[in-house]
Amino acid sequence: MKIITKIKEMQQISLQEKKSNKKIVVVPTMGYLHKGHLSLVEKAKNYAEIIIVTLFVNPTQFAPNEDYSKYPRDLNKDSELCELAGVNYLFIPDALEMYPIGFSAKINIGKVTDEFEGKYRPNHFEGVATIVLKLLNSTLPDFAIFGQKDFQQCLVVKKLISDLNFPIDIIIAPTMRDFDGLAMSSRNVYLSEDERNEASILFVSLEKARNAIENGERKRKIINAIMHKTLRTISNIRIDYASSALADSLETPEEFLPGEKIVLLLAVYLGRTRLIDNTTLLIPSILKSNPASFEEFKG
Ligand code: AMP
Repeated sequence: MKIITKIKEMQQISLQEKKSNKKIVVVPTMGYLHKGHLSLVEKAKNYAEIIIVTLFVNPTQFAPNEDYSKYPRDLNKDSELCELAGVNYLFIPDALEMYPIGFSAKINIGKVTDEFEGKYRPNHFEGVATIVLKLLNSTLPDFAIFGQKDFQQCLVVKKLISDLNFPIDIIIAPTMRDFDGLAMSSRNVYLSEDERNEASILFVSLEKARNAIENGERKRKIINAIMHKTLRTISNIRIDYASSALADSLETPEEFLPGEKIVLLLAVYLGRTRLIDNTTLLIPSILKSNPASFEEFKG
């Protein structure tokens, strides 16, 4: 595995690989790699011969009050893991390489960033879209893989690619979870032992809402209330949002219709650590039981 730090060199390598008819797949990350990231690398092998992992903690997607400076980093371990996983190139530019003095471009994706993460982290998706575009232009891939863990980010990237006519296929990989359902995340290291035990409540609340939907619940307010009520069983929790929406547009109708694909989305603070999670599901067309059983969550 080769480590590359300069954009020009990365581009030249990619062009060279393409000349010898190799396909390239890129897996963008912020490092501190875990099994979730490595599952993306495994998936990458199904698409192309050349795998590039990018590792860049992108300052422009963090607000001033967020954890940019203390975001966990371990370059030696990350490069060891990438080498073992069969990565061909690890691209690790520094901040000045990506944002030289005078850099000013910003990519705004519009509507799909209005709610959820976009609302609670203003400017976050401008930072994400801009860096993704720069990483794609640096690595020149045929495919790029992103995790469903960051659901709204996936929508942003897809929109970026389609609105700007990028000749790249975006692949979305499923969320890898710990034994108790907690989605793997580099930020999980911030959790104390107690918080780590409590953190499974995110998965539990998604599953409770899923269960209600599978048993006939269709009303957004009630679905959201089920998640809120479940999360609030942990006193240490602060909810940014626990909500449901149409999966493709993030629109929020009062009631979902049979056959619609929806997403349940959560962002909470456990102590000082912000965690996100989501799950997607189809609204079933046949009712299994009486939806009235969830009326207790109304209001
Ligand atoms: P990050 O380093 O957190 O920016 O994540 C880099 C990529 O890995 C993103 O596309 C994430 O969605 C994805 N990812 C992060 N956690 C997981 C997970 N638990 N399962 C699958 N993919 C993940």
